[in-house]
Amino acid sequence: MRDDEPGEGARLHRHLTSTVERGSFCSARCTCGWRGPARRSRDLARTDARTHETPPAS
Ligand SMILES: [Zn+2]
Repeated sequence: MRDDEPGEGARLHRHLTSTVERGSFCSARCTCGWRGPARRSRDLARTDARTHETPPAS
């Protein structure tokens, strides 16, 4: 499933994450369409977002 697709030329090749709260759960979201798993803690959701934005250093 896809969220509303951006209009003309609004495609961003950038990862801008935010967290969305749903009831007692929180999940990360990204402008690229990525979605993190529902977490019980906002910190965990943020960690998911960070991990997505910045691939773990190798
Ligand atoms: Zn992304």
